[in-house]
Amino acid sequence: MVKSSLDSSPRDTAPLDNIRVVLVNSAHPGNIGGAARALKNMGLSQLYLVAPREFPAANAIWRAAGAADLLDQAVVVDTLEEAVADCGLVMATSARERRIPWPLLTPRECGARAVAEAPSHPVALVFGREDRGLTNEELQACNFHVHIPANPDYSSLNLATAVQVLVYEVRMAALEAEQGGPVSYADWDRPPAKASDMELYYEHLQAALGELGFIDADNPRQTITRLRRLFSRVRPDDMELGILRGWLTATQNYIHRTGGKGRPDS
Ligand code: SAH
Repeated sequence: MVKSSLDSSPRDTAPLDNIRVVLVNSAHPGNIGGAARALKNMGLSQLYLVAPREFPAANAIWRAAGAADLLDQAVVVDTLEEAVADCGLVMATSARERRIPWPLLTPRECGARAVAEAPSHPVALVFGREDRGLTNEELQACNFHVHIPANPDYSSLNLATAVQVLVYEVRMAALEAEQGGPVSYADWDRPPAKASDMELYYEHLQAALGELGFIDADNPRQTITRLRRLFSRVRPDDMELGILRGWLTATQNYIHRTGGKGRPDS
């Protein structure tokens, strides 16, 4: 688990609370519900609906699942202008290249900018209509355009899916900002075995395999090198290495007890 204050109290979610998703003139209430769910999953809560064609709607509630509270709190307005009036940064998503190019961001850059600026002023991510996206006028009312680099032969994502991609990037950027580095699940409950302990292990391994008759301990050829490579890849932790050492010792004890005959003396 990535541990984060973004998961805990509302006070800590300040940057995400200042980033709103604006859906312009959505036709399908299911997409509004899907977007609400995406927002809540990623820790956002501000949903603005510009003249939705059908809202409130049972289908929206159904698709929102546990995020129906975001639908209750959604701000419904008549124009995009009203939805972004107090925003210092407005980014519009577009599935296509436009005739007049506008400063264009990847979703990752968009997430980073949103998180960087949200502590100072409200930030808006604007999404268009299912059938024809945003008008040129609407696009030109925004500071940046964001394009999800999808398959050029089929680049238009479902509206709620496009929202999910963008809010995921916002969350990743927020986690990175909070943790001061890339998000990673590389945490382990035990420290890796130390190099000096690995060397002792390889000596022990060579001796035990020699006693077993598996290798010639004085001339192990490539076997020990290959086993070193295997354990270097695995990178055992200190406890795992302790288990391996114990295993070798138990094997040696057995050999010594049996005098190397493979069966304990009765
Ligand atoms: N047929 C429309 C696509 C609308 S898809 C058009 O050609 O513009 C509905 C909305 O989802 C878009 O307005 C945009 O907000 C978002 N969207 C879909 N695919 C996207 C992509 N590849 N990049 C960015 N936004 C996308």
